[in-house]
Amino acid sequence: MEHCERKHALLSASSAGRWLACTPSARLEEQFPDTESEAAAEGTLAHELAEAKVRNFFFTKEFGKRKLNGAIKKLQANELWRDEMQGYTDDYLDYIKNIALSLKAAPSARIEQRVYFKEYTLADPEDEIDGSGIADCILLYGDTVHVIDFKYGKGVPVSAEKNPQLMLYALGAYMAYRMLYPISRAKLTIVQPRLDSLSEWECTAEELLEFGEYVKERAAFAVKGEGDFRPDKDTCRFCRAKAQCRARAEENIRLAFFTDKYPPLISNEEVGEYLKKGEDVAKWLEDLKEYALKECLAGKEVSGWKAVEGRGSREWTDMDAAFDILVKAGITPEDMLWEKKPLTLAQVEKMIGKKDFQESVGEFVIKKPGKPTLVKESDKRQAVTNKVTAAEAFAIGNQQ
Ligand code: SF4
Repeated sequence: MEHCERKHALLSASSAGRWLACTPSARLEEQFPDTESEAAAEGTLAHELAEAKVRNFFFTKEFGKRKLNGAIKKLQANELWRDEMQGYTDDYLDYIKNIALSLKAAPSARIEQRVYFKEYTLADPEDEIDGSGIADCILLYGDTVHVIDFKYGKGVPVSAEKNPQLMLYALGAYMAYRMLYPISRAKLTIVQPRLDSLSEWECTAEELLEFGEYVKERAAFAVKGEGDFRPDKDTCRFCRAKAQCRARAEENIRLAFFTDKYPPLISNEEVGEYLKKGEDVAKWLEDLKEYALKECLAGKEVSGWKAVEGRGSREWTDMDAAFDILVKAGITPEDMLWEKKPLTLAQVEKMIGKKDFQESVGEFVIKKPGKPTLVKESDKRQAVTNKVTAAEAFAIGNQQ
């Protein structure tokens, strides 16, 4: 089945992070159309390319070079195609290849495999869609079921640690293959090449089954639209109800305006706390604005707001004719026709691929420190300060 034709289930694996945390969201979302954004459609295309490459690697006999090239040619005809997809899908393929080639025996590979976890999501046994999900790549080797997920998003890096979507795939794979393979552990990997992010996590089969029991408990609420709304920036991010959800609105109003302290100045501790609490407020206001604009454009009334035309931009109707006139008026083509600019380092890397880039011109690249930016304490990068350390002060003193 083409990726774009896949129907989303009420309790799908890809939205499990949401309905497990906020159980009423599953039914609430049903009121809204499941529209696909351009970014999601681009991701779908990249997934189809990734699938073809991995299929070619594992099943070269059935899906050889000719078939792969044919599939790529078809994908290239899509208006969302970008050449950079080749490099990013190669990163995903390289990860899988490295795992497969590092094993003593070839793994058993399942590409774009539908796995079932109906008993945990309490889906109707006859329902082919609900209570199941399609994993990008499942490898079975030794005592391990390894679920590898390709994410094409470039918003925030997604962690594999206790990731509900991947745990559901692993659970489904465990249920399907436990009779054939001696599975006692699961490995989960998310490859997100546009953010240069690779996240891996492992757990035991017992932990997977425990997770399954938790899913069962939460699903019992979710299928009935019951339980508490749990607004949170990560949970609400892709919820179809995010603009109109009352629980989210009330929570953000509370976060934005509630204060029980009356000091003339707030402390650094409070600054940190407000920054954390206010994270979803800004996002929520953006979502509200987007929703209100759509409503106004649809001719509906949003009290106190209206849609107007934004600042337009000027364009040539016939650039060649205009430039001819300018050249005839004495302006030389060298002066004004085209500006020649070298490609940026990142553009060159995208063009030739990371590996070739590193091998051919990597020695000419240095990494300059970026502008200081504020991130959460949990961020893996080393903290920086402008404060002079004792060692630096000593070195300066010796130079003087
Ligand atoms: S917007 Fe947030 S709180 Fe509201 S239903 Fe969706 S996930 Fe739950």
